[in-house]
Amino acid sequence: MVLVLVVNCGSSSLKYQLFDMRDETILAKGLAERVSVAGGRDAVLTHQPAATPELRVEAPMADHSVAVALVLDALTHPVHGVVESLAQIGAVGHRVVHGGEAFARSVLITPEVLQAIERCAELAPLHNPANLMGIRAAQRHLPHVPHVAVFDTAFHQTMPRRAWLYGLPYELYEKYGIRRYGFHGTSHLYVSQIAGEFLESRGIPRQEQKIITCHLGNGCSMAAVLAGQSIDTSMGFTPLEGLLMGTRCGDLDPAIIPFLMERLGMTTDEVEEYTNRKAGLLGVSGVSSDMRDISAAAAAGNDRAVAAIELFCYRVRKYIGAYAAAMGGVHAVVFTAGIGENNPEVRRRCVEGLEFLGIKIDPERNQATPKGEPAVDISAPDATAHVLVIPTNEELLIARDTAAIVSQSHTPCA
Ligand code: ADP
Repeated sequence: MVLVLVVNCGSSSLKYQLFDMRDETILAKGLAERVSVAGGRDAVLTHQPAATPELRVEAPMADHSVAVALVLDALTHPVHGVVESLAQIGAVGHRVVHGGEAFARSVLITPEVLQAIERCAELAPLHNPANLMGIRAAQRHLPHVPHVAVFDTAFHQTMPRRAWLYGLPYELYEKYGIRRYGFHGTSHLYVSQIAGEFLESRGIPRQEQKIITCHLGNGCSMAAVLAGQSIDTSMGFTPLEGLLMGTRCGDLDPAIIPFLMERLGMTTDEVEEYTNRKAGLLGVSGVSSDMRDISAAAAAGNDRAVAAIELFCYRVRKYIGAYAAAMGGVHAVVFTAGIGENNPEVRRRCVEGLEFLGIKIDPERNQATPKGEPAVDISAPDATAHVLVIPTNEELLIARDTAAIVSQSHTPCA
């Protein structure tokens, strides 16, 4: 199986990449936007083949099935297409946000797996139903091809109980599954694998490795990765917990929620909207959810923008300290995603004052952004821990898992 299509469905969007697994190159990628049950009349598909010009298709997309059909048309388009026939696509890998406790790794999608993902939808009501629509639509159009589910939560299923249990009555976990799950698992796994290879080349065997991964994008989370396994992560029952994010508040005293509801008369929907979409960098700065705008505003003297950056970096720093304590040390801190890969000033501030942990960056190396390299070491020569910038690639990990699972399931029994 050579070509793997990776599909990532949101409630109104569908992102895709087609990989040639012989050399892991991307043949084409694209995005269908504004898919809507209301008719999706302003929907648009942007298809970007690697070797020919972009194709833009404006067509109504009332559901994900229409979007998938348009994507498959684009992939086989006489001018902008990259395959002659859909029969060349060997497998489809789907990103699924929540696998609950049912999935600790990626799996071949069977009717039972679909049912289990449906059960997890209660835990991720915004995401899993969209992921399911994408799976069903892709299965409808590519029925003879194996489909694989890759979960955002799976990597964190190795967390010990002390890391995933909340200090709530235990029956809330037993009855309703209220516990910490963690997200961004594909990204934390991908970059920690590369960091692990880097450390191995420096003589630190995998079973001893202590890695802290910082995924700093629009959504932000961190993970403590001990001997290749996630033992703690900053997101919890939902992606709201932990770091300050583009529009999410992160860690919060839970007593603030009833206060908002009682004193300000907010409904649960309003509280949800406030904490998920109006808080974080946007809410604190009042400027934007994008770190570039906030940095510009801070440079121009906007004190709320200054406060947002301070809060953002301070939380990352606190979590680095916490995870170093959880693992009894740290060999590498990894920065990834939009902010982690591209913002040297934020990286500098996140590790400021952590020399006592052996963490110290080289100011010149810190200006580098990795282009084409798997990992850039920005630590100072006298540091004992490495600080690495590693571009994340969740789609590639999904494609690799998909290829691996499909080839295993095709291995004849001895
Ligand atoms: P998402 O989580 O939606 O995939 P990203 O990983 O792209 O988003 O992260 C978005 C954040 O990354 C924004 O705050 C933005 O300022 C920052 N960012 C993205 N690209 C760059 C860049 N080239 N230079 C500086 N900052 C960037």
